[in-house]
Amino acid sequence: MKFDYLIVGAGLFGAVFANEVQRRGKSCLIIDRRKHIAGNIYTEEEKGIQVHKYGAHIFHTSDKRVWDYISQFAEFNHYINSPVAVYGDELYNLPFNMNTFSKMWNIKTPAEAKAIIASQIADLHITEPKNLEEQALSLVGRDVYEKLIKGYTEKQWGRDCKDLPAFIIKRLPLRFVYDNNYFNDPYQGIPKGGYTAIVEKMIGNIPVQLGISYRDFLAENAAKGEAADSFDKVLYTGMIDEYFDYCLGELQYRSVRFEEEVLEDCENYQGNAVVNYTERNVPYTRIIEHKHFEFGKQKDTVITREYPATWKRGDEPYYPINDETNNALYERYLELAKKEQNVLFGGRLGQYRYYDMDKVILAALTMAEEELKNVFQNN
Ligand code: UDP
Repeated sequence: MKFDYLIVGAGLFGAVFANEVQRRGKSCLIIDRRKHIAGNIYTEEEKGIQVHKYGAHIFHTSDKRVWDYISQFAEFNHYINSPVAVYGDELYNLPFNMNTFSKMWNIKTPAEAKAIIASQIADLHITEPKNLEEQALSLVGRDVYEKLIKGYTEKQWGRDCKDLPAFIIKRLPLRFVYDNNYFNDPYQGIPKGGYTAIVEKMIGNIPVQLGISYRDFLAENAAKGEAADSFDKVLYTGMIDEYFDYCLGELQYRSVRFEEEVLEDCENYQGNAVVNYTERNVPYTRIIEHKHFEFGKQKDTVITREYPATWKRGDEPYYPINDETNNALYERYLELAKKEQNVLFGGRLGQYRYYDMDKVILAALTMAEEELKNVFQNN
């Protein structure tokens, strides 16, 4: 068969791109090395509950265009993420807000909270935070940093907070009102029926081959000779360094081990979808109780503990580690990528970026638009 695009990776980026170009008359073939579609947003029903098999995904965006786009594929519920953090026998609301501060210092007003934070950082004289530790301290002071950030972050990333980029902590809102909503975005929710159904709809009738890597696909395809499939272009959403055979060295990633447990006849295990464990010596970072994303009333429950892990070749690369060294190496891979004729690189792994789902969608829509513009200009 002759296809306009070979899409490597059936995750969110690949599916959005494929849907867009196919709707505008282009043909695609999608391949994925996993045995299922939907990449890391893959959900699977267990005990009547949608289980997020590769970590919890909560959809949130400030972009009305992205919200309207995703809403074509699913109805979203009104879930609002309000995680709690456990530190020893203390429990705090997240993100950092007046509920957190009030519990931490037994105070009531924003002025009191601001005064305590200011007094805790007065002698640090941080003007421009150089790393995550300085960023966190300058935002929330020493107590919150020590109890709710330092341990969690160091086990999540496997590094000292002084050796991590500041932007990671800026993902979390900080506010001086009593508001536990983890996100600032006006649009938020969980898709009824799970994320896999969304990707299924995006893919529609586009052919998909699962359980095959790009390399094996190319080899098998070449072996078919005359009968081989052909493509004008490739969209590659795997790891960019792997694509180039790590010729400039390895980019670093952080992995996670998910330990899932089905608790029969336990209607409500932890009372919240997300509970973070912020102490360094608790080996997992959080426990997800999936039913609470959907206000589930099933008699059983499913929980997942997340154990951050060092990444080595062959492991799942969940998080790019966007520090200066890795970003500089990525830039060099990007130079190679630009020279690669007829190959596009997209997604968290193809673009080595700590992307949220809404940013993935926006980037895929933009790439598709750009592609189609070029295609139509060239014709
Ligand atoms: N973080 C923290 N304490 C928490 C939750 C998060 O210090 O209880 C920090 C940590 O450095 C983490 C970052 O905030 O890597 C971003 O957290 P987010 O929940 O956005 O991470 P994700 O859901 O992408 O894993």
